[in-house]
Amino acid sequence: MALEIKHTAGGAILLDGNALRDQIIAELAEEVAGDSSLPNVCLATVLVGDDKPSRVYVGSKQRKAVEAGLSSRHVELPATATQAEVEAAVAELAEDPTVHGILVQLPLPDGLDPEPVLDLLPPEKDVDGLTERSMGRLVRGRDGHVPCTPQGVMELLGRYGIETKGKKAVVIGRSTLVGLPQVLLLGAKGADATVTLAHSRTADLVEACRDADIIVAAAGIAGLITAEHVKPGAAVLDVGISRTADGIVGDVDFESVQAVAGAITPMPGGTGPMTIACLMQNTLAAARMQQ
Ligand code: NAD
Repeated sequence: MALEIKHTAGGAILLDGNALRDQIIAELAEEVAGDSSLPNVCLATVLVGDDKPSRVYVGSKQRKAVEAGLSSRHVELPATATQAEVEAAVAELAEDPTVHGILVQLPLPDGLDPEPVLDLLPPEKDVDGLTERSMGRLVRGRDGHVPCTPQGVMELLGRYGIETKGKKAVVIGRSTLVGLPQVLLLGAKGADATVTLAHSRTADLVEACRDADIIVAAAGIAGLITAEHVKPGAAVLDVGISRTADGIVGDVDFESVQAVAGAITPMPGGTGPMTIACLMQNTLAAARMQQ
């Protein structure tokens, strides 16, 4: 099924993450239904505490799992849970052969250290791709789960036919969740972009960006990227999320940038839904790894 191509008022291709997510979920559901060798593929979500956005994210991950033909299990602990209690809950899921993927919703409440919790995840069940072993596999170019948000950016580029080979890409942000894996994925063999990593100490962000064919903004600073950062025709993908008085906004000033860009993600409805789609892809891949 081809994606319908929509344009912004300024003529840029709208990289519609909602539409692509729906397409990927439908593809996964078809694959699951058509493969009788698959077990009942299960994604387990772990939520600690009562952070509202985290609860919304976990809820939509569970709903999309079911739409993709997977089953979901949910484990919830109170904000008062101890480090040992959280680790025990995750260890139980790690050992359970009926659970194929485990997602620990981050951030954990204050006082809890996520590192020892993530370390309990076997690499094949680490569908968020955040553990040291998954990261190590990504760096070494070995099979493993890739973090969902940067993978979602790659899917948007690929499925909308945006060439990365030999192109200049700038990634803004150097976190292990988004920026660093994004740099690795864009620069990997096959994607073959020449990648610049910009961050909070980059001296001149306009200068770093304005030659780029692809910009991935993951700083979490509302409206950081404006038309002056963007080369005419460039693809601009907005990962940042800031909660402001005007609602949720991205790192990209959509109005000014859509007038110069060749392609742009909306916010919301761009990279966010793609994160969920890639989580489902990883969960099915996890079940296949464990078959
Ligand atoms: P982070 O705070 O760990 O990293 C932010 C990065 O931005 C840092 O590396 C920092 O060096 C860089 N930065 C900060 N100010 C900058 C500036 N003025 N110029 C250039 N770089 C600057 O955050 P993160 O976990 O990587 O997430 C980044 C953003 O993406 C956040 O807003 C987060 O909410 C959002 N996010 C979105 C999704 C999604 O699905 N769309 C998923 C994960 C995170």
